[in-house]
Order: sequence, then C-alpha cells, then structure tokens
Amino acid sequence: MAFEGLSDKLGKVFSKLKNHGKLNEKDVKEAMREVKMALLEADVSFPVVKDFVAKVSERAVGSEVMNSLTPAQQVIDIVHDELIQLMGTDTARIDFPSKPPCVIMMCGLQGAGKTTHTAKLAKYLKKQNRRPLLVACDIYRPAAIDQLKVVGASVDAHVFEMGQTNPVKIAKESIKYAKDNGFDVVILDTAGRLHIDEDLMKELKDIKAEVQPNEILLVVDSMTGQDAVNVAKSFNDMLDITGVILTKLDGDTRGGAALSVLSVTGKPIKFAGVGEKTDDLEQFHPNRMADRILG
Ligand code: GDP
Repeated sequence: MAFEGLSDKLGKVFSKLKNHGKLNEKDVKEAMREVKMALLEADVSFPVVKDFVAKVSERAVGSEVMNSLTPAQQVIDIVHDELIQLMGTDTARIDFPSKPPCVIMMCGLQGAGKTTHTAKLAKYLKKQNRRPLLVACDIYRPAAIDQLKVVGASVDAHVFEMGQTNPVKIAKESIKYAKDNGFDVVILDTAGRLHIDEDLMKELKDIKAEVQPNEILLVVDSMTGQDAVNVAKSFNDMLDITGVILTKLDGDTRGGAALSVLSVTGKPIKFAGVGEKTDDLEQFHPNRMADRILG
C-alpha cells in the first residue's frame, strides 16, 4: 500500500521524540531533519519538502509547544495539520453546472489510467443517480475505442463513438447527443501519448476551446513519482486543469505525488484510484490521507 515506507520512517522519528520527554530546540531540529529525509525518500518534490519542514519547525519550536506537558504529541499534531494543508483542507468535488450536461474532459499520458478511470467515474456518478455518457476521443488506436466500449459496458454506461474522425468534432457532437438523449454528464476519454508533445497539447487545447468543459481532470500515475508531478505541472500550465485523479495508490508507490500535486499546480486531487476494478475509486480526503501517513 502507498506510504508504507513514509509511515514507517515517520513513526520511528516520532517514537524517538516521545522518548525524550521534555524537548529542546535541538531535539526538534533533529527530528525535522529526519522528517525531511523521509519525505524526500517518498518522492515528495524538493521545494515542497523545504517549505513543509520550515512551516512545521516554525510552529514547533515555540515556547507553547516546548513547555507543554506533551511536546512530542504537539509536534506530531503540527505535522498532521501541515500534511492536511499540503493536500488541501477540504475534499474537492466535481463542479456540476446548474444546466446539464456537465462536461468532464479526462486527459493524461498513455497508461496513466484514463480509460479505466472514465469507467470508474461513470460508475461513481451513476450511484449518485447521474446519467453519464462516455465519449471515445482517443482515435489513434482503434483498440482504445474498443477498450472504452468494454469498460463502458461493464459499468452499464453508454459509449458515444464516431470511429477515427476528428476528436474535436466527436466531442462537439457528443454534447449534442447528450442533450438530445437526456445524459447529464459527458466524460471525454481523450488520447494520451507516452510523453507530452505539442500535437497532443494542441489537440487537447482545441477540444477544450470547442466544448469548454466544466472539469478538466488530469489522470496521473502515482507510481511514476517525481515525474507524476512534472506531468501535472506541464498539463496544468497548458490546459489550466481543474483537478487531478491520482491512480495506482494501491500499489507500492511511495506516494510523494499525493503530497506534491497541490503545491506545485495549485489544483486539488479530486479522486484516488486504488485498484484495477471499476469500484476502486475513492474521493480524495486530505485528512484521511494524513491519518494514513501518520499511521
Ligand atoms: P490509459 O492509457 O491512460 O487509458 O490507461 P488505462 O486505463 O488503459 O490503464 C492502464 C493500466 O493501468 C491498466 O492495466 C489498468 O488496469 C491499470 N490501472 C488503472 N488504474 C489503476 C489503479 O488505480 N490501480 C492499479 N493497480 N492499476 C490501475
């Protein structure tokens, strides 16, 4: 499970701190040095770690903490609190417009989990009594259209496709189709590439300009560590995304992306993918994630 290494290391730092009884500034500094190492080893991006440790240190060395009866616990509480701040204080939700359909554009690199999460999201929305339409905008690989049809069928969601024609046109037509047929959410499964390239970004920008989505959700593979954050930054710079779906948090990912995405992009993680099945989607709750990290 994600964060195992980080949890273990932080656990050790804090139990050492607890053994001290009363704390002095040097104890806290030493603990913060170890927290910094643990975060870096978990692939949290460097500027984020620096900022995080500075904030915790500033709050922890105050006389209120040092002179309290449980200084170590106070330091742990501060770390917990700052971890939540790092990931977003509130649970980020999908922004539904007052007038349907809500258009959600899924984007991301190939293999990140876009198609899988298009289906997961459809299932999640169906449970909230929404009627999602899934749209095959990845026209470069015929297999991608078939894959969407298969996962769409598995969650009993209708798939709109026009074969291998212009994806901007497909997106536009799908919205008309949704309006005519009573679908209140349109999820566009766009094409990915192995790496970010100009053609991909131009296509995504064109789709965005044409349909003006309510949500642009970037699907990011947490297993790719620091790269996940770089990818999020690039997509956000070019598309001004509205949120992130962080996938494969069930694997042995070190989890750094979960702690870095919001600071680096200013955009919240809205969902976490926690498995290959269509039920394996969770809303991203920063407080629960902080609990998990601190064990
Ligand atoms: P796309 O190219 O971005 O559309 O990626 P896919 O949806 O085809 O997913 C790529 C692979 O990742 C597939 O084998 C999925 O089963 C797998 N996958 C997607 N999401 C998750 C997840 O949250 N956890 C795990 N363990 N595997 C996932």
